[in-house]
Amino acid sequence: LEVIGSVEPRIAEATRQELADQRASLKLIASENYASPAVLMTMGTWFSDKYAEGTVGHRFYAGCQNVDTVEAIAAEHARELFGAPYAYVQPHSGIDANLVAFWSIIAHRIEGPWLQKFGAKNVNELTEEDWESLRHEMGNQRLLGMSLDAGGHLTHGFRPNISGKMFHQQQYGTDPETGLLDYDAVRAKAREFQPLVIVAGYSAYPRRVDFAKMREIADEVDATLMVDMAHFAGLVAGKVFTGDEDPVPHAHITTTTTHKSLRGPRGGMVLAQEEYASSVDRGCPMVLGGPLSHVMAAKAVAFAEARTTEFQAYAQRVADNAKSLAEGFLTRGARLVTGGTDNHLVLLDVTSFGLTGRQAESALLDAGVVTNRNSIPADPNGAWYTSGVRLGTPALTTRGFGHDEFDKVAELIVDVLSNTEPGATKAGDPSKASYRLGDGVAVRVKAQAGEL
Ligand code: PLP
Repeated sequence: LEVIGSVEPRIAEATRQELADQRASLKLIASENYASPAVLMTMGTWFSDKYAEGTVGHRFYAGCQNVDTVEAIAAEHARELFGAPYAYVQPHSGIDANLVAFWSIIAHRIEGPWLQKFGAKNVNELTEEDWESLRHEMGNQRLLGMSLDAGGHLTHGFRPNISGKMFHQQQYGTDPETGLLDYDAVRAKAREFQPLVIVAGYSAYPRRVDFAKMREIADEVDATLMVDMAHFAGLVAGKVFTGDEDPVPHAHITTTTTHKSLRGPRGGMVLAQEEYASSVDRGCPMVLGGPLSHVMAAKAVAFAEARTTEFQAYAQRVADNAKSLAEGFLTRGARLVTGGTDNHLVLLDVTSFGLTGRQAESALLDAGVVTNRNSIPADPNGAWYTSGVRLGTPALTTRGFGHDEFDKVAELIVDVLSNTEPGATKAGDPSKASYRLGDGVAVRVKAQAGEL
């Protein structure tokens, strides 16, 4: 920070303040974690200065021998860690990884059945007329993903993201009674919609998914199964999810972020079956800019950490702690979507406290509890105000929290929410955003959180 401060003191100060804030609050955002010092330090090196478009051994720039070493090690660790035939470690983020996957699925079809229609052996033989017709074909593809309010992600076919614009899209949801995935309903939708891509995976679904079943459905309609394991990659690496709950052997393509439960640097990755390897490999420059070599190096370090038995124990604690947190809420009368959890997150339905997600999130933040508001199935308050708060255990588990601490966290959250009332607009109408937190609650909760 001294070195940074000698150039731009305000950035040094903001960095110092960020550390202080993270230390002073309870970080319960399900997609966040604390990367190790080794991972953080690997990101601050001279690899940041290097351009390296292309792939290992096939770069558009000279002098990439050390980047080649780094990328090859990161990919090798990733393949071993997840038992994947192929790993592409260049994506800069989860969204980028999904874009690489979408384009590689389309490229795979262009080079396969679509190419045959034009009687061409490879894409170089296609005429401008052929491309015109191909562009039409590409623009008519369909994607089936999990709906946002059931826990899916924006990149799974929603309008604000390119996936919702480049594909005709439909969504599958969860059972209205149980909140659980209904595979028969997914199958029926897939049969009717005949998608090119079925996306499984989630940001806010608190249960396990049977990926073998999802693959069966995809095969039935000749779709590519893409699994976005961004949220639970740490539980896959840590062998908490195995067999049918491990997406990698079942999906044609698996994408992930590296910074959530996997506890690596901020970034993305694509794992693929052999038949998709060559199209995924062209992610840069197809949809990605030059690789962030310093981040690829940090991914290699994080994957080396994730291979250890210590990481497996950590991953198991993340899942156990989520159960403790859920029990802590249920014993205090709070309502959870699906009634519990079997992964790293809990989705609290705050309508039982008479609040919107936005009000609950803000009141909790005042008390030093950092969460995010989240839609719940058939959300009466829509995607902006929402009716839920999503809570994850990866970050506080890294800090060493166990059963007792998470039970206390549930107690503190219930304390805040039971002492929060919905507020009104300036005109006196009911508001979905303003709120009144009871006197002294924030101080009381912060003090108790500080003791954890
Ligand atoms: N996929 C899922 C399931 C996510 O939850 C997220 C982010 O929260 C992403 C993709 C996007 O990741 P990033 O923010 O790294 O682009």
